Amino acid sequence: MAELTPKERMAIERHPMPEQRPEDRVKNFDEVPLGFADENAKREAARCLDCKTPQCVEGCPVRIDIPAFIKLIEKGDFDASAKKLRETNFLPAICGRVCPQDQQCELVCIIGKRGKPVAIGSLERFASDYERDNGLRKVPEVAASTGKKVAVVGSGPAGMTAAYEIRKRGHDVTVFEAFHRGGGVLVYGIPRFRLPLAVIDEDINFLEQMGVKFMYNTIVGKSMSLDDLMGPEWGFDSIFVGTGAGLPKMTGVPGENLNGVYSANEYLTRVYLMGANNFPDNVTPLYQGKKVGIIGAGNTAMDAARTAKRLGADVTVYYRRSEEEAPARTEELHHAKEEFITFKFLSNPTEFVGDDNFFIRQIKCDVMELGEADDSGRRRPQPTGESFVDDCDTAIMALGCDVNPIIPTSNPEIEVNKWGVVVANPETGATSKKGVFAGGDLITGGSTVIQAMGQAKVAAAALHEYVMSNGNAFGYWQD
Ligand SMILES: Cc1cc2nc3c(=O)[nH]c(=O)nc-3n(C[C@H](O)[C@H](O)[C@H](O)COP(=O)(O)OP(=O)(O)OC[C@H]3O[C@@H](n4cnc5c(N)ncnc54)[C@H](O)[C@@H]3O)c2cc1C
Ligand code: SF4
Repeated sequence: MAELTPKERMAIERHPMPEQRPEDRVKNFDEVPLGFADENAKREAARCLDCKTPQCVEGCPVRIDIPAFIKLIEKGDFDASAKKLRETNFLPAICGRVCPQDQQCELVCIIGKRGKPVAIGSLERFASDYERDNGLRKVPEVAASTGKKVAVVGSGPAGMTAAYEIRKRGHDVTVFEAFHRGGGVLVYGIPRFRLPLAVIDEDINFLEQMGVKFMYNTIVGKSMSLDDLMGPEWGFDSIFVGTGAGLPKMTGVPGENLNGVYSANEYLTRVYLMGANNFPDNVTPLYQGKKVGIIGAGNTAMDAARTAKRLGADVTVYYRRSEEEAPARTEELHHAKEEFITFKFLSNPTEFVGDDNFFIRQIKCDVMELGEADDSGRRRPQPTGESFVDDCDTAIMALGCDVNPIIPTSNPEIEVNKWGVVVANPETGATSKKGVFAGGDLITGGSTVIQAMGQAKVAAAALHEYVMSNGNAFGYWQD
């Protein structure tokens, strides 16, 4: 086929990914977007202008060579495209599904300035799914053994990436995980209709095939300390900590302790990690009423709302700012709206009202308006003086999370900032405790999968330098 001119490329419309119809998908937990067919992927790839200085690469926290992987799709060499992705990203099938592309790579795509950006995330998903579906994925090569032992604490995207990068360099790696299975928020937070379990499990399997060992049901800081791990019994030379931000924030309004009020983390964990949606086949119960109120409008809120919908509820999202300020990915908001979820923007819950048995029955809200911009640059919501009351028999608080405190509180020598976020050197991921590196939500207080991966890569490279120099690298740790 003759090479297309830039004008011809720009004339191609962005291909929407086919999806399950809203009225069907609210009755199941299957993935909503169905993926591109080969020809659609090639046609979407043909929209890429192969810019000389591609901004999209700068927009990707792990600097995937985006034009290169897209050009391989256009040529029809899907396997090579997946291999190109894996040069920089161990988890492309996950990132293609959950990255906030609209705020990262696609935000700065040159074509996006005139029309719609190239569907980078969808193409990333396509190439990595093609590789998986056709059994083309190869176990990554591992360097000869260095004789060094490294512990990774936490098996979320930060821990998985650190384990991969450290093992690849020839070190012996053991991942310690509090839960009975790996994946972190990817498993216990992000719903199956956005990220199927098979995708995560495949990545864990590949780590195992590389020789990474997993110790589940082990809470470092409780079952054993970091010092135990670096002491004679365990003999680890260094530790990467990626224990995330799993401590839910609550509003503190009256009635928050009523039965039927959940944190989104507890709610989602019960469903996705503990299988509560299959009660009584799974023993974890989930009390859920008919009218569910979700407080917040981030990704977690959309996940909780869409889950409650699939479990048969009438769902309303309450958010104290306007839709423009809602932190959720554009796609998640769009999907939630399509799924018949009601949004009450500029509504701030002030009280949960219970019955005589202490079960929530109503939610009281102030009607808000936006005032002057605050320190975050966003216009501050303020009460208008009006209020309303809605019936509600389950409320789910999705107001964000704080850092998991177990590692910092059990290791006071690890410096934290005033929000309890672990302080790590941005160039190395080194914490204030000798030999201990960190990455992911633990050092950001809550971010994204790809940011967690990017930080884990940085920390893994520094950790390698540290163990290979027998702890002599970096001047900032005194013995
Ligand atoms: C519901 C929800 C939806 C989200 N949606 C998106 C999205 O669409 N896109 C996106 O990019 N990001 C999303 N995020 C954010 C993203 O999931 C996180 O930024 C990312 O998972 C952080 O990775 P992590 O490895 O640092 O931590 P986590 O994924 O939290 O993993 C930490 C792991 O450490 C384990 N652990 C904790 N303490 C210990 C201990 N003491 N010992 C042993 N193990 C321990 C935990 O059990 C957990 O498995 C979402 C978050 C939530 C909660
Ligand atoms: S990893 Fe995320 S940010 Fe990077 S190219 Fe893929 S979708 Fe974009």
